[in-house]
Amino acid sequence: MLDQLIKQAKLTTQSTEYNNQTAKDKFYFSYAWKKKRQKILRFYNFECQLCKSNGKVTLAEHTKIIVHHIKPLEYFPELKFEDDNLIALCHDCHNKVHETFGTKWDDEWW
Ligand SMILES: [Zn+2]
Ligand SMILES: [Zn+2]
Repeated sequence: MLDQLIKQAKLTTQSTEYNNQTAKDKFYFSYAWKKKRQKILRFYNFECQLCKSNGKVTLAEHTKIIVHHIKPLEYFPELKFEDDNLIALCHDCHNKVHETFGTKWDDEWW
Protein backbone atom coordinates (compact mmCIF):
# COMPACT_ATOMS: atom_id res chain seq x y z
CA MET A 1 0.00 0.00 0.00
CA LEU A 2 2.87 2.40 0.71
CA ASP A 3 4.10 1.92 -2.84
CA GLN A 4 0.67 2.63 -4.13
CA LEU A 5 0.37 5.85 -2.17
CA ILE A 6 3.74 6.99 -3.40
CA LYS A 7 3.01 6.09 -6.99
CA GLN A 8 -0.21 8.03 -6.91
CA ALA A 9 1.55 11.08 -5.59
CA LYS A 10 3.73 11.26 -8.67
CA LEU A 11 4.16 14.93 -9.21
CA THR A 12 3.28 16.72 -12.35
CA THR A 13 3.24 20.46 -12.74
CA GLN A 14 2.77 22.48 -9.65
CA SER A 15 -0.40 24.49 -9.65
CA THR A 16 -0.20 28.20 -9.22
CA GLU A 17 -3.01 28.19 -6.69
CA TYR A 18 -1.12 26.55 -3.82
CA ASN A 19 2.48 27.25 -4.65
CA ASN A 20 3.02 29.31 -1.55
CA GLN A 21 2.66 28.65 2.15
CA THR A 22 0.11 31.39 2.72
CA ALA A 23 -2.31 29.88 0.25
CA LYS A 24 -1.84 26.43 1.78
CA ASP A 25 -2.27 27.73 5.32
CA LYS A 26 -5.44 29.41 4.27
CA PHE A 27 -6.76 26.13 2.97
CA TYR A 28 -5.76 24.04 5.98
CA PHE A 29 -7.24 26.53 8.40
CA SER A 30 -10.46 26.85 6.48
CA TYR A 31 -13.70 25.71 8.00
CA ALA A 32 -14.46 23.61 4.92
CA TRP A 33 -11.24 21.63 5.32
CA LYS A 34 -11.73 21.11 9.06
CA LYS A 35 -15.17 19.75 8.40
CA LYS A 36 -13.95 17.49 5.61
CA ARG A 37 -11.07 16.30 7.77
CA GLN A 38 -13.40 15.28 10.58
CA LYS A 39 -15.60 13.47 8.12
CA ILE A 40 -12.67 11.50 6.71
CA LEU A 41 -11.35 10.66 10.18
CA ARG A 42 -14.73 9.35 11.21
CA PHE A 43 -15.06 7.41 7.96
CA TYR A 44 -11.79 5.62 8.70
CA ASN A 45 -12.64 5.28 12.40
CA PHE A 46 -9.58 7.36 13.34
CA GLU A 47 -7.41 4.46 12.23
CA CYS A 48 -4.22 4.55 10.17
CA GLN A 49 -5.01 2.79 6.91
CA LEU A 50 -1.42 1.97 6.07
CA CYS A 51 -0.85 0.27 9.43
CA LYS A 52 -4.14 -1.49 8.92
CA SER A 53 -2.96 -2.84 5.58
CA ASN A 54 0.02 -4.27 7.47
CA GLY A 55 -2.21 -5.90 10.07
CA LYS A 56 -1.47 -3.32 12.74
CA VAL A 57 -4.03 -1.25 14.60
CA THR A 58 -3.01 2.37 15.07
CA LEU A 59 -5.68 4.68 16.41
CA ALA A 60 -5.92 8.35 17.25
CA GLU A 61 -5.53 7.48 20.91
CA HIS A 62 -2.04 6.10 20.20
CA THR A 63 -0.72 8.83 17.97
CA LYS A 64 -1.73 11.73 15.80
CA ILE A 65 -3.84 10.66 12.85
CA ILE A 66 -3.44 12.84 9.82
CA VAL A 67 -5.71 13.21 6.83
CA HIS A 68 -3.37 12.89 3.90
CA HIS A 69 -3.91 14.09 0.35
CA ILE A 70 -2.90 11.13 -1.80
CA LYS A 71 -2.41 13.50 -4.68
CA PRO A 72 -0.87 16.54 -3.02
CA LEU A 73 -2.72 19.79 -2.73
CA GLU A 74 0.03 21.70 -4.50
CA TYR A 75 -0.29 19.59 -7.61
CA PHE A 76 -3.91 18.58 -7.66
CA PRO A 77 -5.89 21.38 -6.02
CA GLU A 78 -9.02 20.22 -7.80
CA LEU A 79 -8.92 17.03 -5.70
CA LYS A 80 -8.55 18.71 -2.33
CA PHE A 81 -12.04 17.79 -1.15
CA GLU A 82 -12.37 14.46 -2.98
CA ASP A 83 -12.99 11.64 -0.52
CA ASP A 84 -11.10 9.26 -2.81
CA ASN A 85 -8.03 11.44 -2.60
CA LEU A 86 -8.02 11.54 1.20
CA ILE A 87 -6.85 8.91 3.63
CA ALA A 88 -6.19 8.63 7.38
CA LEU A 89 -2.56 7.93 8.24
CA CYS A 90 -0.64 7.91 11.50
CA HIS A 91 2.26 10.24 12.04
CA ASP A 92 4.91 7.61 11.19
CA CYS A 93 3.23 6.34 8.06
CA HIS A 94 2.54 9.84 6.90
CA ASN A 95 6.21 10.68 7.26
CA LYS A 96 7.15 7.56 5.33
CA VAL A 97 4.94 8.53 2.39
CA HIS A 98 6.16 12.11 2.28
CA GLU A 99 9.82 11.28 2.79
CA THR A 100 9.72 9.27 -0.39
CA PHE A 101 8.29 11.90 -2.62
CA GLY A 102 10.02 14.68 -0.80
CA THR A 103 7.29 17.19 -0.11
CA LYS A 104 6.59 18.97 3.09
CA TRP A 105 4.00 17.34 5.24
CA ASP A 106 3.46 19.31 8.39
CA ASP A 107 0.64 21.50 7.16
CA GLU A 108 -1.67 18.51 6.87
CA TRP A 109 -1.64 18.31 10.65
CA TRP A 110 -4.47 20.74 10.77
ZN1 LIG B 1 0.40 4.01 10.37
ZN1 LIG C 1 0.33 14.05 3.50
